[in-house]
Amino acid sequence: MIKKILIDGSPCGKCAQAEEILKKRGFWDRIDRVVIADEADINSEGMKLAAEKNVELAPFFIIREDNGDERMYTRVFEFIKKELETDLSVNRSFDISLANEKFASLSPIEILSETQSAFGEKLSLAFSGAEDVVLIDMASKNGLPFSVFCLDTGRLHSHTYAYMDTVKNHYGINLEIFTPSPDLLEPFLKEKGMNSFYQDGHSECCGIRKVEPLGRALKGREAWATGLRRDQSPSTRGNLMYSEYDEGHLKKDGLPLVKVNPLLDWSSQQVWDYIRKNEVPYNPLHDEGYRSIGCEPCTRPSRPGEHERAARWWWEDGTIRECGLHLK
Ligand code: SF4
Repeated sequence: MIKKILIDGSPCGKCAQAEEILKKRGFWDRIDRVVIADEADINSEGMKLAAEKNVELAPFFIIREDNGDERMYTRVFEFIKKELETDLSVNRSFDISLANEKFASLSPIEILSETQSAFGEKLSLAFSGAEDVVLIDMASKNGLPFSVFCLDTGRLHSHTYAYMDTVKNHYGINLEIFTPSPDLLEPFLKEKGMNSFYQDGHSECCGIRKVEPLGRALKGREAWATGLRRDQSPSTRGNLMYSEYDEGHLKKDGLPLVKVNPLLDWSSQQVWDYIRKNEVPYNPLHDEGYRSIGCEPCTRPSRPGEHERAARWWWEDGTIRECGLHLK
């Protein structure tokens, strides 16, 4: 492992985090050597190695086989996945009732840790809003495997697309992006045009741009975690549980996926307190008055005193403000 010391003599934060993750996962004793790349000394062994291998990121990992072959990694999770883990499919039984009983006394990060331990990479985090990035932050801090997907509807704000890259780079994660099926989207657009939702409601467009891709995103998974909170919508989210079976998405064996909602009891204020305290990157649209962010044509900045989801599909007075991803 090549660790960096910054030009001012302080240790590199990402290197320390990677070391902690390796220790937490019990892999630290499999690191043969730690080599220091001292930014203040270009002749330090690590700086020379970085120059030789043309690497600008720290930490990085080099595997040398006895026959001289080399493999290199600049992401700790990829290094763990490809070199250290032998069984990624942690498939233990998960009892929803027992889990809910236990989760009631745990913090969100502990709920997530339990879920990560149970499902490993077969647990997917759905990345979209501020709450979801809080979960990514917590999951990264837990140092246990997880995967992240994102639904690109094709109608997101340009800020959101830039923000997706920010999150991917900040956490060094693979962000799997799912887009609408052309077989469904093209005939729909041909028949109804780009903005039919203003006339006949959002459910058909959301069905094609979000719900169908979600089904593909969850294929091969055993569980997914969302940033849903009860107080986002008392009518549709008031009865949510910490974990539940998602009957709308089935595994290969025909049994439903497990859906976990670690932030269930949090308020928007708690989410933002966490974001600020932990310096979690957030969508810059929040600074422009947006509270709940979806597709560009269907989201406007919130008005004073308005509920956070009132600015979604605002022209559909009295309807359920859900895109269908979480409706049973
Ligand atoms: S939020 Fe609007 S643009 Fe996005 S999928 Fe739904 S209806 Fe279509």
